[in-house]
Amino acid sequence: MDYQAFFSSELDKLRDEGNYRVFADLERERGNFPKADNHVGEAVRKVTIWCSNDYLGMGQHPSVLGAMHDALDKVGAGAGGTRNISGTTHHHVLLERELADLHGKDAALLFTSGYVSNWAALGTLGAKIPGLVILSDALNHASMIEGIRHSKAQRIIWKHNDLADLERHLASLPANQPKLIAFESVYSMDGDIAPIKEICDLADRYNAMTYLDEVHAVGMYGPRGGGVAEREGLMDRVTIIEGTLGKAFGVMGGYIAASTEVCDFVRSFASGFIFTTALPPAVAAGACAAIRHLKNSNKERLGQQEAVAQVRTRLDAAGIPHIDNPSHIIPVMVGDPVKCKWLSDVLMNRYGVYIQPINYPTVPKGTERLRITPSPVHTQADIDHLVGALTELWSQCQLARLPMAAQ
Ligand SMILES: *Cc1c(COP(=O)(O)O)cnc(C)c1O
Repeated sequence: MDYQAFFSSELDKLRDEGNYRVFADLERERGNFPKADNHVGEAVRKVTIWCSNDYLGMGQHPSVLGAMHDALDKVGAGAGGTRNISGTTHHHVLLERELADLHGKDAALLFTSGYVSNWAALGTLGAKIPGLVILSDALNHASMIEGIRHSKAQRIIWKHNDLADLERHLASLPANQPKLIAFESVYSMDGDIAPIKEICDLADRYNAMTYLDEVHAVGMYGPRGGGVAEREGLMDRVTIIEGTLGKAFGVMGGYIAASTEVCDFVRSFASGFIFTTALPPAVAAGACAAIRHLKNSNKERLGQQEAVAQVRTRLDAAGIPHIDNPSHIIPVMVGDPVKCKWLSDVLMNRYGVYIQPINYPTVPKGTERLRITPSPVHTQADIDHLVGALTELWSQCQLARLPMAAQ
């Protein structure tokens, strides 16, 4: 086999489909987010980021940066090992306490990313609970799917957010078979939200555990940023809450929060926890500061909600189609991978607006989109510029418009 020719031809196929991924080379300006420098070869241009998952700008927050500087100066760079072998530092212990408190749980367990936390926790539960069946929402994140697959447990995919379908599956299973329902609160591509209470009701009725990925909700929903389950008073009804420290908390890392026994079980059996170096203590300290800040401050959440509402209203007035949903995510629908990539390129090159195109396999073919995430640090001028640019391009690209609200 000509290995290099194989790799090239597979990549060419992706390019032809418009699905080849190109990363934007960005340099954020501290204190000036969402502004950044975009490096293109030797050139540098100013852009505004409209697709960051640092939803609240906490990656720039003075108390987060201060905590990271302090920790770095006091304890140095890396953790120096796995949690088992000298990598458990006081910053990790404090962060796990903070996370347990955030979700009203007895315990929490840290991982190096949200991806790893899903993969390791679901992989371990599925592999180690005899006869477990995992009932997984059809739109669950790749990290949950991979964890479940890796566990080799019996797996049932239920229709996205469809309670009747979930119940049909639960009812078809033996009453005494152990069950785990795995789902998300805010689904990151469509921005819709799961009926958490009703899923917990079904879990009670059929004696199932629940596993809730709140990655796109922690920091942003609930009075203390505990997520949608906190907002709806349901945290105590969910068996395991999973989250990330890399999105609204602005740093990096992932975790589960649950009973002492569940956390201790995963800690004791998960390869993806045991055999990898712990997060740098400064990262743990920064995440801890972000969580503490967002437990006590609503300013960022309110600012984000206001920016989201405003962008939606302005898009409606311009007739630009976007999915109507109850979250902070605004998917502007394009429906064609080549046009989606073109729009994104022109937004960047001509308007200094950075929105990454979202194409297959992240979303189904035909539902390609620009996913906009307004934040409390976007200004009125940023919003005007964004909507102006999209309005011009929508005409040039001959994309479908909705009937204009103003007409
Ligand atoms: C991003 C994401 C993850 C992974 O979290 P990271 O901390 O980025 O690894 C998990 N679940 C969902 C739904 C996500 O969108």
